[in-house]
Amino acid sequence: MDPNFKHKYVSVREKEIEGPTIFYLKSLTVFDYGICEEIKIDGNHLGLYSLEVLMRGLIGWDNFTYSDGSVIPFDYYNMKSISLIPYLVQLELIEEVIDICEIEQELIDEIQYVTKWSGYSSRLDENKQNSWYCENCISEKRQKSRNCYGDQLNTCDKCKEDMEFDICPKCEKKTTPKFRFRFSKVKGDLVTRCPVSLLSRRAVKLVNLVNYVDNSKSLPFPGSSLEQTQFFYSLRTVVLSSQDSLLKKEMDNMDKDKGKNNG
Ligand SMILES: [Zn+2]
Ligand SMILES: [Zn+2]
Repeated sequence: MDPNFKHKYVSVREKEIEGPTIFYLKSLTVFDYGICEEIKIDGNHLGLYSLEVLMRGLIGWDNFTYSDGSVIPFDYYNMKSISLIPYLVQLELIEEVIDICEIEQELIDEIQYVTKWSGYSSRLDENKQNSWYCENCISEKRQKSRNCYGDQLNTCDKCKEDMEFDICPKCEKKTTPKFRFRFSKVKGDLVTRCPVSLLSRRAVKLVNLVNYVDNSKSLPFPGSSLEQTQFFYSLRTVVLSSQDSLLKKEMDNMDKDKGKNNG
């Protein structure tokens, strides 16, 4: 997230050898990313796009030598020194720089879950909120009944047996989890583990950061918004849009309830 953070990268081809070349990469800023995307959208310049990503993302190297062992100095923004990197390693580096900038699906899912939970818990009264700290589950010895560790077995209601399968191998009926927590009446909108135990620390932190930044109207790192990392901006979009869609769903439900009452 820090635009000045140096990511170390060693090629998969050199992982096993002693003293491999270490490349230093940085996340693209919003400005860098925009320029690269513009080239990409053009369509005819994929090679140029890759080169641009590499030139903006690569900030140095160690142990990069000619075959005679003499050191190749790093020259920022010099195509010649970049062209000395083997082509396949260049591709790895480009992929890595893009990876650093973008948010993987797993994190998006985690963030949406955190938003959902915080929306839910903010509507609970204080007593209920307090009963949903996972430390509480454990201190009240409820971690088993709430399945905080996710290791509780399901039950087959027909055979009256506990098992880890979703479908009972004996009677082929669906088994039922012991714990169910519903977010809403919508089908499938439930979890079978203590909802708090499912919150990922990293997602909670990131959601808090985005909300903090938005409320305080200051950016996480010095510099203009174009100098922030693309990662932060993608993150912000994910957090704010999942909060928005949650709000929209709630409004829709309220409208529906209103409709019911009137009709
Ligand atoms: Zn718990
Ligand atoms: Zn069964």
